[in-house]
Amino acid sequence: MDQAQAHRWLATAVEEARAGLAEGGIPIGAALYGADGTLLGRGRNRRVQDDDPSMHAETAAFRAAGRQRSYRGTTMVTTLSPCWYCSGLVRQFGIGRVVVGEAATFHGGHDWLAEHGVEIVLVDDAECVRMMTDFIEKNPALWNEDIGE
Ligand SMILES: [Zn+2]
Repeated sequence: MDQAQAHRWLATAVEEARAGLAEGGIPIGAALYGADGTLLGRGRNRRVQDDDPSMHAETAAFRAAGRQRSYRGTTMVTTLSPCWYCSGLVRQFGIGRVVVGEAATFHGGHDWLAEHGVEIVLVDDAECVRMMTDFIEKNPALWNEDIGE
């Protein structure tokens, strides 16, 4: 996929991350796009908002998309490298591609996904890095809770 499209899709995930931050949550956003470029679902990490540690951004976007017959041609777009739990979701449902905003502040399962045939597009977006760096600095305990440390 071309970088311009990756950036356009990432903008949706960044909007979600910003909304989460404004709600007092963890600024991670995601969106699931269909093979034809249709936005199927979008969401954000809602650990704090819903008191639900399983509501990660990717999970929220996946659930918002509802039932899909196949995930083969779909793309999961996320502002941050997916954790093991969300990487597992990608493999479980056969999502074909993952666009990763950044993997500098957290190196999740994207290498593992690539090894198993998932196309990984690492954008290395400066705004995504800044958002997470600021958040982690101000909320180290909440961040460590989210990544299970
Ligand atoms: Zn996750």
